[in-house]
Amino acid sequence: MVTPTASGAGTDKIGWRFENTYSRLPDVFFSPVNPAESRDPRVSILNNRLAKDLGLDLTSLSPKAAAALFAGQDLPAGSLPIAQAYAGHQFGGFTMLGDGRAILLGEHRTPGGQLVDIQFKGSGRTQFSRGGDGRAALGPMLREYIVSEAMAALGIPTTRSLAVVTTGEPVYRESIRRGAILTRVAASHIRVGTFEYAARRGVSPLQELADYAIARHYPGLSENPQKYLEFLREVTNRQAALVARWQLVGFIHGVMNTDNVAISGETIDYGPCAFMNTYDPATVFSSIDRSGRYAYRNQANIMQWNLARFAETLLPLLDLEPDKAVAVAMEVLDAFPDLYEQYWLDGMRQKLGLQTVEADDFEFIAALLEWMQKSRADFTNTFRDLSAEEPLTDDRYQDTDFQAWYSRWQERLDRNGQPKSTAYSLMQSVNPAVIPRNHRVEEALLAAEEDENFSYLHKLLAALAQPFEEKAEMADYRDPSPDDGTYRTFCGT
Ligand code: AMP
Ligand code: MG
Repeated sequence: MVTPTASGAGTDKIGWRFENTYSRLPDVFFSPVNPAESRDPRVSILNNRLAKDLGLDLTSLSPKAAAALFAGQDLPAGSLPIAQAYAGHQFGGFTMLGDGRAILLGEHRTPGGQLVDIQFKGSGRTQFSRGGDGRAALGPMLREYIVSEAMAALGIPTTRSLAVVTTGEPVYRESIRRGAILTRVAASHIRVGTFEYAARRGVSPLQELADYAIARHYPGLSENPQKYLEFLREVTNRQAALVARWQLVGFIHGVMNTDNVAISGETIDYGPCAFMNTYDPATVFSSIDRSGRYAYRNQANIMQWNLARFAETLLPLLDLEPDKAVAVAMEVLDAFPDLYEQYWLDGMRQKLGLQTVEADDFEFIAALLEWMQKSRADFTNTFRDLSAEEPLTDDRYQDTDFQAWYSRWQERLDRNGQPKSTAYSLMQSVNPAVIPRNHRVEEALLAAEEDENFSYLHKLLAALAQPFEEKAEMADYRDPSPDDGTYRTFCGT
């Protein structure tokens, strides 16, 4: 048994540069806590490439030292473990939450000068655990690792995964599972829910949080006389861009509660998320989302709803007169649909190699999507097939509706006024060949959890690391499972 210490004796040499800026916020924002003891920590996976980008050298660590580090048994010097307080609207209802199974070690300064949160998920109970055990099972932590790293490779803003270790402790769910801890790296873990919490604590803590978030994520606004309004506008803008990116790759977050909306604009919380295969706007994978609140087609609307909750928290900072505060906030929120649509349209034009703007672009794209829905086409593979410079010979493309659209598209490409090859290379750089196909993810998780066989995981991660490359050996990762319609995901708590 190893006892958590903050000596960092074994791991200082790897290059940690901790600061503890969040801990300087008022005490109501966090609660100090140590990671629980782990009987027998072992490394499941380390992200050496990410470590390198962060200025960390994990290669010098023995497997035992790495396991002790990422199980929170040998805390890095300079770290100051805390659990963060926050609240959130979950499926529309408000709850006080907080890190019930996560511990923030502090912020690490990267070689590029950026501050990033280093957080353990599954490291034991905290003041905010409510009825939970503070633990996590290996499968869901590896799932977050896989999908977050896939998102990063797709160029979509996201939290990252630095390591997963098993703790040697059992975790009791529907069955007994291996306990595990994920080390998550994020621009920060400040969420809309953090603001909902702060607003209920009073204007002074709210303002301190807002100033902190602005300094950290929107430093250009610090001196702006309208900084809180501009902050709202910037967060709205980043979230509009983010949801558009999700839509463009068929990513369904699955649990867009306000505590899962990061102020930094990163995708956060990879519980029940999954990628859509067959194009159907009504797609929902999450087993608890019975009403389809977080279905693919609702993601932008829900984001706007979440941003409205965010705006409400900021009202006291926007204007001393409540009516005026509401009016300026509404103006920002009302711009969301157009902003989102612009990001989505620009992204769709790239997906189709369109380098000019035409009045009927929206209708033109909708016609393709309608055909895809009607013919139950695979979202990812259709765009990737279109990106190939060769004619589409597959039977599914011989349909007359598709052919009509295709001719229209070819004429549209001619109007780019550039060689078609330019359009095709653009398309190949934005339309992934490889996404985390649900059955491949499950296959990798099952082998790791049941048999401690990590070979499927490593192969899958290698394919996902280069999603725009079309290599023969990646062919196995391209097709959806034929029975994907029944696929269900779980929150992974
Ligand atoms: P999530 O679904 O991961 O966004 O979690 C929602 C809330 O439940 C957060 O406050 C989590 O910290 C908390 N939570 C989830 N799982 C556990 C657990 N096993 N023990 C304690 N708290 C948990
Ligand atoms: Mg969450």
